[in-house]
Amino acid sequence: MRRKLVVGNWKMYGRLARNKALLEGVVAGVGALKTADFGVCVPYPYLAQAQSLLQNSNVVWGAQNLSQHEEGAFTGAVAPGMLADFGCRFVIIGHSERRGLFHESNEIAAAKFDAALKAGLTPIFCVGETLAERESGVTEQVVATQLDAVLDRAGASGLAKAVVAYEPVWAIGTGKTASPEQAQAVHAFIRGRVAQQDSQVAQALCILYGGSVKAANAVELFAMPDIDGGLIGGASLVAEDFVAICRAAAGK
Ligand code: PEP
Repeated sequence: MRRKLVVGNWKMYGRLARNKALLEGVVAGVGALKTADFGVCVPYPYLAQAQSLLQNSNVVWGAQNLSQHEEGAFTGAVAPGMLADFGCRFVIIGHSERRGLFHESNEIAAAKFDAALKAGLTPIFCVGETLAERESGVTEQVVATQLDAVLDRAGASGLAKAVVAYEPVWAIGTGKTASPEQAQAVHAFIRGRVAQQDSQVAQALCILYGGSVKAANAVELFAMPDIDGGLIGGASLVAEDFVAICRAAAGK
């Protein structure tokens, strides 16, 4: 039986004072929830703050990107080992904003995935189609290509140490959510694709749904058999909204 996981993606939002109030609210709200796991992926400058406020809680923390290089002359980049130094559990890789706005290819995402694993971090590997791709009927093809980039490089044993997030691009930050059935179909497809390489890894794989998850739709999304929780953008910035989604994952 897979445990549910809810992870917040703060994106480029946050300030010290605001973060403190938000993290304290989240810690207070989820402290008693023992039947699911929780995390927040914060901007780099706030990793130390997250570490200090979360280290004795049941909320883990992580980052939203990393360099595929171990170290070197890469001005502005952040090495995997640096994230490990700040106690990060997770790192988001291949988010559609990284793929779209920062031109990250499947190959770069796969290299980052590999680098994260080598540093002992758990990648949250994002896949998902655009609206045009969905409307042209190529959702499975797009998701398979994104997933195969990682499977080809790290193998099923790599995915065994990772989380996958299905995030249809058309549902991110738009208020449009995939219906539970639409999301379930893609989640089942992802699990099936991994099963072609290793059925045990596929069965154990945590596959999150991301795309305008709110307290109001979390219960029905999380009730689907292949949806193991959520990657939450906007709603992770408001403690009571995020906590409500965490409660839905914990069945409370
Ligand atoms: C995200 O960016 O990962 C995301 C799911 O955002 P939102 O919940 O705001 O759609």
